[in-house]
Amino acid sequence: MSDARTEELRSRLANLHARITHAAEASGRSPSAVTLVVVTKTWPVVDLRRLFDLGVRDLGENRHQEAETKATELAGLGISWHFVGQVQSNKAARIATYADVVHSVDSVRVAERLNAGADQADRLVSCLVQVSLDVGEHHPGDRGGVAPAQVDEVAAVVSGAGRLRLAGVMAVAPRDVEPARAFERLTSISSAIQAVHPDATWMSAGMTGDFEAAISAGATHVRVGSAILGERPLLR
Ligand SMILES: *Cc1c(COP(=O)(O)O)cnc(C)c1O
Repeated sequence: MSDARTEELRSRLANLHARITHAAEASGRSPSAVTLVVVTKTWPVVDLRRLFDLGVRDLGENRHQEAETKATELAGLGISWHFVGQVQSNKAARIATYADVVHSVDSVRVAERLNAGADQADRLVSCLVQVSLDVGEHHPGDRGGVAPAQVDEVAAVVSGAGRLRLAGVMAVAPRDVEPARAFERLTSISSAIQAVHPDATWMSAGMTGDFEAAISAGATHVRVGSAILGERPLLR
């Protein structure tokens, strides 16, 4: 496909990769240590096909219904599907039938349901424990995730589940904290988890507004939507 939209996506992707390279090198990291997950929520499948044609293989979605429809339509292409939204426990088993990575495991119950779904579908699903970095009196849980004190417990359940692989931790920076400070906190939680689970090396952090700060803090996966696809329509 070669049309104006494809060219727009091509140039925004190139720009994004340049910014990732710059941020990684500025903090002494290899750019290849950072995976770009392009978050395509709300955008039509035709845009996902364009991204695939441009070489993108990691796509992120945050709503089960939409994610399932897109994954079904694009099955067999070798795309890695990243589920980044809140997992409702009654949808978890379904999500485990198409998601390769779930970034947002935020309870023991969700972990158990994902494992049951993965088992039934004969699949292995990589999981990140989503950590809430909201502090103090501000709306706890505002951006989702488990409290830092509960990360160990959820990580242990994921690690012990036969069909789940504990890959690491994920967070969304709270609105009222400087992203660099929030991500430093996530880095220390990530280190603590790796002390117990050495393979849990992934740290999913950073979106359009703060991915460079996340890379400086050690993010291995950045989740970027609007810097590549444009502003989402205000549907949701
Ligand atoms: C939508 C979304 C993103 C991407 O956000 P942008 O600001 O558009 O880059 C990343 N992570 C999660 C969890 C999201 O829901």
